[in-house]
Amino acid sequence: MKQDRLWEAVLDQIARRVRRQQFETWFRNVYPVLADPERIELAVPNRFYKEWMETYYASVIRESAAAVTGSAPEVFFAVDSTLAASSANDRQSETAPLQDQQASGAHADKSNPQDQASDEYNFSPAYTFASFVVGPANRLGHAAAMAVVEAPGRAYNPLFIHGGVGLGKTHLLQAAAQAFLQRSPRAKLVFTSCEEFVNDFVLAVQRGDLGAFRSRQRDVDFLLIDDIHFLARAERTQEEFFHTFNSLYSAHKQIIISSDSPPSEIPSLEERLVSRFKWGLVARIDPPTYETRLAIVKNKAALRGVEVPDKVAELIAENIDTNIRELEGALTRVTGFAALWNRPLTLELAREALQDTLFARPSVSIEDVAREVSSRFSVKLSDLQGRRRTKSIALPRQICMHIARQLTDYSLEEIGGFFGGRDHTTVMYADEKISELIKTDPGTRAAVNGVISSLSRH
Ligand code: ADP
Ligand code: MG
Repeated sequence: MKQDRLWEAVLDQIARRVRRQQFETWFRNVYPVLADPERIELAVPNRFYKEWMETYYASVIRESAAAVTGSAPEVFFAVDSTLAASSANDRQSETAPLQDQQASGAHADKSNPQDQASDEYNFSPAYTFASFVVGPANRLGHAAAMAVVEAPGRAYNPLFIHGGVGLGKTHLLQAAAQAFLQRSPRAKLVFTSCEEFVNDFVLAVQRGDLGAFRSRQRDVDFLLIDDIHFLARAERTQEEFFHTFNSLYSAHKQIIISSDSPPSEIPSLEERLVSRFKWGLVARIDPPTYETRLAIVKNKAALRGVEVPDKVAELIAENIDTNIRELEGALTRVTGFAALWNRPLTLELAREALQDTLFARPSVSIEDVAREVSSRFSVKLSDLQGRRRTKSIALPRQICMHIARQLTDYSLEEIGGFFGGRDHTTVMYADEKISELIKTDPGTRAAVNGVISSLSRH
């Protein structure tokens, strides 16, 4: 019938506009009572279904029809309860909508294409390329992420993005994932935190269900793994990941990885993985410059719909220079403070709101750490900085390294260099060792805490 053929064509268009899961959930159980260029009437199984379709899918249907006929029809839904009774998916159609409520809600609205890709992935609609402020410190990572979306598997593979906490790694990965899904709505994408990967793998091993795990990870077009440094201690998972990597890589599937440190500094990461991570592009994100921070503060304020005077934005950008999450936190605090006390957001009020932050920690240098440890442990500064490895010197030196990692922004190399020209692995080892020791040995814990608190009081 002509009517059915028209609906088939429209369905085809719909399938290109929504993700497969949505299509399966919502469009399998409907049929056209009427379909012509002026009017489409669809029978749906129940009232809830009807309301849902009206709210979230009517515009997609209109648009899809317009793509076929050149004119957007009116769209109506009618409940046909026999559909529910006859449908094998009946139960599912009652429950599935609730599960993916948020997701498909955002997703079906074509006017908001960034949300469209979000569905089952729980991507943050705020983490897009559009909302990512580019500056000298993150330009490379940003450009590379855009490039791999343009040419997946061809531009840079893998793309390895590393940088400190709160510098925008997850934001970039999600932006790339969402942009990719927008371009290829039916492609298979896996976005997982490394922790999840490890957990899933361990579970799969326990259940003896590795096959399913593997096809989930390997039968994909685009794999994003956030915070790969969690792979450090999971040996068997490294092995598994190595094979996942190889299988995707050789099939020219795109891989994006984020980490808090460059490949060679991830503790106890197998050499073969380290070298693979360097095959593509390794992009470092540095802490943002003042101009970038200012732009981010203004940008976030605009996104939240709050007016922030320039002076206030400058105050925040000047004083919070380590990490962008804290920058956002400061913005939240000043606007919240103004709202709470019902006062205008002035420079004065911002100073008050940020008092604790602004006057908290002065920056600590490696020398400060060494000096403090030297006096507390009665070890000579020159010994801490020397080559001798007797226990009475080595332990305080390791404590120095651990605290320097905690309190300063110096790199592993710089810290190692300061303490007797040691290399980065020595620092990593010391850092881990003391972290462990703090858990098990109250004496070390007290000493370390003592040093840290007197350094914070400077
Ligand atoms: P990471 O994963 O590196 O720890 P996130 O990606 O979680 O950091 O970023 C922390 C916060 O800072 C997020 O809210 C993110 O949106 C924001 N952010 C980071 N970099 C930028 C940027 N360049 N422009 C806008 N917001 C940013
Ligand atoms: Mg992150």
